[in-house]
Amino acid sequence: MPSKRVGVIGFPVEHSLSPIMHNAAFEALNMRDWHYDAMSIPPDILRLGLREPRDHGYIGINVTVPHKEAIMQYVRPDEKARAIGAVNTVDFRSNIGTNTDADGFIKDLRAHDVHIAGERALVLGAGGAARAAVYGLARAGAKVAIVNRTESRAEALVRHLRASAGIGGVDVKTLAEAADWGMSLIVNCTSVGLHPHIDQSPWIQDLPFPAGITVYDMVYRPANTALMRQCVAHGGRAIGGLGMLARQGAIAFELWTGVAPPIDLMQRVLQEAL
Ligand code: NAP
Repeated sequence: MPSKRVGVIGFPVEHSLSPIMHNAAFEALNMRDWHYDAMSIPPDILRLGLREPRDHGYIGINVTVPHKEAIMQYVRPDEKARAIGAVNTVDFRSNIGTNTDADGFIKDLRAHDVHIAGERALVLGAGGAARAAVYGLARAGAKVAIVNRTESRAEALVRHLRASAGIGGVDVKTLAEAADWGMSLIVNCTSVGLHPHIDQSPWIQDLPFPAGITVYDMVYRPANTALMRQCVAHGGRAIGGLGMLARQGAIAFELWTGVAPPIDLMQRVLQEAL
């Protein structure tokens, strides 16, 4: 019986790929006393449900839909979690809640040698993933603009980042305005293109696609999205979101265990599971 336990809470949570990713890393590192499992906790009993892993000696948990925002009132959110407006990782030893999406995303960009500081980066979307992207890119020194179907939501994102993290200078644009803004990076943080709608792209067809840029698509199912195909067809480079998924998990793994996990293995098991 493993004595060091971690896991993910969500509702539903059965679809989560985190257990296979973390348990594969424990096995590869011969960390036999560690185990990661999935716990289904309905939203109306979140506070009570949190007591279960805490009282049973869990070291920490990941948090997924629909608890990422609600859990903020029961833990101590750090600056990243407050800026992003969501907690996805908790360390019960300190009761600190953090968010590993922004760092996972930036680490994956760096792993692909994408330049960030001083570059113009266009973020598509204004949900939780977009908040993490804008926060990470702005902190890494990029000039960021946002395009979202619902413009008021993008404006609210900009206001929130300014108030919670002092991040300024982020513009809200229409896609037509953004088309000739001169960005070197587009990050898709919308769910457009996600399986099964694999032929949909957030870049509407009647606008010229910028040539020779990099697209990072947070969507990882399918591995090659319509937006990524558009980018490559225009001489650009396209990166899918699987690396971010592995790296945001790896940051939590290291936080709980003090050990850096094998990223390549985590990515490989995710790929196989998808
Ligand atoms: P979310 O909060 O629900 O936000 C969804 C975003 O997509 C909103 O900006 C929404 O625009 C936009 N959108 C949805 N349907 C659209 C459509 N038909 N046309 C134009 N825009 C549309 O979701 P999220 O948590 O930010 O996640 C967004 C995507 O990122 C998902 O596919 C998720 O799987 C992925 N993701 C990946 C990773 C990773 O590790 N790779 C991590 C986090 C998220 P409105 O505001 O107008 O509704």
